[in-house]
Amino acid sequence: MKKCRKCPSRSAVSEEEIAKMVEDVRSMRGVRLVPEPEFERRFGICMSCEKLEDGSTCMLCGCIMQVRARLADGRCPYPGGGRWKNAVS
Ligand code: SF4
Repeated sequence: MKKCRKCPSRSAVSEEEIAKMVEDVRSMRGVRLVPEPEFERRFGICMSCEKLEDGSTCMLCGCIMQVRARLADGRCPYPGGGRWKNAVS
């Protein structure tokens, strides 16, 4: 199993852990989220990206994409301006 670029721990995160993170971010005050179709568009791009590990972790930023792709201020760190171009937030 590859290690996350940003931390020494494993890159795999369980579905339960991801669901909890998503629930937490949805309940945070002051955090703007994108509409679900925009999340689906972004996450679909991640799912076909070679930098996505274990279906959840971006190996460039170390973020869990089921969370980051929901953030209105979230950006794709892929070199050259990212892969989420034309994002709606
Ligand atoms: S580099 Fe961009 S498209 Fe690829 S997994 Fe990371 S955030 Fe997603």
